[in-house]
Amino acid sequence: MTYDQIRVLHSLLGDIVLESLHLLDTDCVSRLDCEKEAKRQLYKIQETPDIQDSPKDSKDRPLYSRLCMIYPEYHCSCDFFIHSVVCEQTALMCRHVLATILYETLNDQQNNNVLNDDTFARILYTWNTSRS
Ligand SMILES: [Zn+2]
Repeated sequence: MTYDQIRVLHSLLGDIVLESLHLLDTDCVSRLDCEKEAKRQLYKIQETPDIQDSPKDSKDRPLYSRLCMIYPEYHCSCDFFIHSVVCEQTALMCRHVLATILYETLNDQQNNNVLNDDTFARILYTWNTSRS
């Protein structure tokens, strides 16, 4: 990804571009594939909460998992997506959705996991948007 491409994205989407690139750079994004016949995919993004919301020592900060889907329509389980994208419609997407799109686009797909139907369904239906 070139500097000019990042600048164009930043002019369209703002600081979530930098936040998304940080998620990719720190290997926070992984793709969960259901068995090949089903062709269903989810994305799991693990990140620490904002510094002001947690203890200063990074080892004590819990990891939060977010669930994202980008096909056929994108959706994320984070509060920002629900509040700013769905309800108020003041943002196009959250940093997690952009990170998953960039994850696919940049072909940086080192963290893919193939799951059977039962495991995939259990993750989808028991997802906890808080800590994991
Ligand atoms: Zn999100």
